[in-house]
Amino acid sequence: MITAKTLKLSLKSLKDFAKKRLPDETLIQLDERDECPLEIVRHMCDPDKLGIQLLFIPEEFGGMGGGAFDVYCVCEEMARIDLGIATAVLATFLGSDPITVGATAEQKKLWLSRIAEEGLLFAYGATEPEAGSDLGNLRTTADRVMQDGRVAGYKINGNKQWISNGGVADVCTVLANTPAGPSWFIVEKGAKGFTHDEPEDKHGIRLSNTAALALNDVYVDADRLIGGVEGQGLNQAQAVFGYTRLMVAAFGLGGGWAALDRAIPYSTKRIQAGAPLSEKQGYTHKLIVPHAARLEAARAYIEETAQRIDAGSEGSLNTEGAIAKYMASEAGNAAAEASIQALGGYGYTHEYMVEKISRDVRITTIYEGTSEIMEMTISRDRWQLHLKTRGQHYHDQARELEALDARHPEVGAGAAALALHALAEVMEKARLARLTRYQHILLRLGELIAFAECAGSLARRAALMAEGKLEEKASRRFDAAALAALSRVFAREAALKVAEEGLRWVAGAGGVSAAEMALFENSLGLPAVHQAQAGLISDMDYVADVLYGRTTKRTVQAA
Ligand SMILES: Cc1cc2nc3c(=O)[nH]c(=O)nc-3n(C[C@H](O)[C@H](O)[C@H](O)COP(=O)(O)OP(=O)(O)OC[C@H]3O[C@@H](n4cnc5c(N)ncnc54)[C@H](O)[C@@H]3O)c2cc1C
Repeated sequence: MITAKTLKLSLKSLKDFAKKRLPDETLIQLDERDECPLEIVRHMCDPDKLGIQLLFIPEEFGGMGGGAFDVYCVCEEMARIDLGIATAVLATFLGSDPITVGATAEQKKLWLSRIAEEGLLFAYGATEPEAGSDLGNLRTTADRVMQDGRVAGYKINGNKQWISNGGVADVCTVLANTPAGPSWFIVEKGAKGFTHDEPEDKHGIRLSNTAALALNDVYVDADRLIGGVEGQGLNQAQAVFGYTRLMVAAFGLGGGWAALDRAIPYSTKRIQAGAPLSEKQGYTHKLIVPHAARLEAARAYIEETAQRIDAGSEGSLNTEGAIAKYMASEAGNAAAEASIQALGGYGYTHEYMVEKISRDVRITTIYEGTSEIMEMTISRDRWQLHLKTRGQHYHDQARELEALDARHPEVGAGAAALALHALAEVMEKARLARLTRYQHILLRLGELIAFAECAGSLARRAALMAEGKLEEKASRRFDAAALAALSRVFAREAALKVAEEGLRWVAGAGGVSAAEMALFENSLGLPAVHQAQAGLISDMDYVADVLYGRTTKRTVQAA
């Protein structure tokens, strides 16, 4: 268990280290040279130095026993420094996850203790040239090597593609097909027949080493089969998605804020048409404020999910991990893109960090499951809940938010409830008209679900903040009044998006009569959604004032 105080100290050491060793000029030079600063990565993982790895290793194996909330906080901070280095450092977390969830007691003791004591760097070898989103298409094989009638070891053959730390890791976990199905193996650097290619010349995260791996008759002893039982690989990979996707979500969040936190000060100094850009509503309300609101909605969802994972009372929370990753990585990308625009011509040059951040954060919608795969995962899972509850799942959530709105009319819960009611209606119409046979509609539903659920999360967290009940480790960048205003801005966007885009996809699929369409339109509550937009501009003004430090604290009040 890591206390809030220890976590704060760790984050501070990380920040201090980055300030000293990784100033912007150094990062830009390394990016230009396409160089992974291995010495720095090792320093960060060294238990006698920064020892970031220790955070996520259980205490019984010499670590600090951090949970999902701690990992989210560290990942966000790392991403704010550099997403390539964050990827290099956190690849050990990802690479050792199959061990954490699936290994035997002896394997855990051996490998997790070695990470804690020696700062071993791991790589996670799942993707192949022919198996990306569809890991079931795996071609790498692990053939049994028999001795005296028992399995003494395995011979692994195949190729892995796009592996973070592929060229520098001490150990790699490799997914390969055994006679009983996909299984994870531990393969050490230097094993005979185990080689890697030159690092890939990438668009972004150029400080991270990404390489293809080749396995030609690589022999490993039977005790390198994770868990000791063949065929568990895909289940083990699934079991950690809630956790690992939260990590990439935090990367998106950190990248997005790193960009906005450069655009904001820039715009206070850049004078155009006689005044700083920061004073121009057409600038702040397009390029800064909506991005801050989306990032904070994603943060609210990440924090709620992390807390639930740490409470340990539920399943793997895969879908929640997918929603968090989807929202945070999409919001992070949009924020970085807007930050380039916010800096104008300067933003378009290598000299200014927003250009690099925008290239770096781009990876977060691709690795650990692309945005489209996240949309599919979210939609399929929540579709089941819709069916199981006879269409009441989101109406129930909406009713809870209406109750919250009665207690806290200032936190945007009313608009979030409109989003969730509309979502329930869209899903029901999709069921009746059998619209999920269109893959595009299925995936668009995933997006609407993510927006509506995040609106609910942000409203709940704004209310907890107002009541002084947010957990100690939660972000406190914004006070209660500001978080409530951010929530109102986001909830309005979510409600409008769900109702209008839901209407669009149902109409777009065709086959629904004009009379049914009119009834459906009625059910979406569009007039209420439109009325809920009232006050949006003044809330955006307020959020801009908060972001630019132009407010004195104000008490929480209704919009
Ligand atoms: C820099 C970098 C680092 C990486 N690090 C690692 C690592 O450490 N370990 C590891 O195992 N992997 C790693 N990856 C691989 C990464 O996880 C995959 O690239 C990713 O899962 C997508 O697979 P793919 O590239 O084969 O794309 P594809 O699966 O071919 O997808 C291409 C496009 O098609 C879409 N698509 C795919 N399937 C469908 C479908 N059924 N319906 C609709 N659209 C679909 C995708 O969303 C995407 O837009 C890394 C990749 C990169 C670029």
